Amino acid sequence: MLKWQGIISAIPLRWKTGKPVYVRPELPICICGEDEMIILSLSTHKQIRKHVSKEFFSAPTSRSFFNRMFDIEQTEWTFLYSMPFLVTVYTKLREFQWKLNHNILYTNAMLFHMNSPLVASDNCTFCDNACETLVHLFCECEAVECIWRAIYNLWGQYLKCPRKFSAKQIILGDKHFSNLLNHIILMTKMSIYVCKLKKELPSLGKVIADVKYTKNIEHKISERKNSLPIYLNKWSDLAI
Ligand SMILES: [Zn+2]
Repeated sequence: MLKWQGIISAIPLRWKTGKPVYVRPELPICICGEDEMIILSLSTHKQIRKHVSKEFFSAPTSRSFFNRMFDIEQTEWTFLYSMPFLVTVYTKLREFQWKLNHNILYTNAMLFHMNSPLVASDNCTFCDNACETLVHLFCECEAVECIWRAIYNLWGQYLKCPRKFSAKQIILGDKHFSNLLNHIILMTKMSIYVCKLKKELPSLGKVIADVKYTKNIEHKISERKNSLPIYLNKWSDLAI
């Protein structure tokens, strides 16, 4: 009984009292949207799911946070959300970017604001000289600035990347970049964050080791799946 009540109370009130779902003996079951009517018995599961998610979707609050910070076009979000799924098959990297996109990747600034016992101040783990926001941690800290500069010096010409990445390009990616460049930026951020958690200084050497390892793994996967051309198209002759 308690389980049943739990299930019923978990259904949003809007679903219970909102858009009508009606049954008439002579008609199939329908869902009436604002500008369309979906006939359930004639629709695929994908069509119904698309309609229902459109009806009940509300943008994550992190969107307005990043919109204020970077002035992002609404249409760009589709790419930004799909970027980690386009560039890598590694679940941990996808999850890492998902947390960033939803502004739930914890920095000292966030933890201190939440009165977490894990931090004594909001100072940066690396330089201990500025507030550790996302932008400081990944883009502006002197401990990471040199890594982005080194990446440009190493692969800038080959990857066609700007001499200096913007904070938006580092934190969220860029739709004009190749999958490989967005992937390398993602791996670099993850490497920086792992170093933060271990309280170690990040370095280009650690990033290169991660890129090398990932390249080898993707090579092996492509051989197993007979998809070597896709691997070569992505990595080509990136010098590592
Ligand atoms: Zn710092």
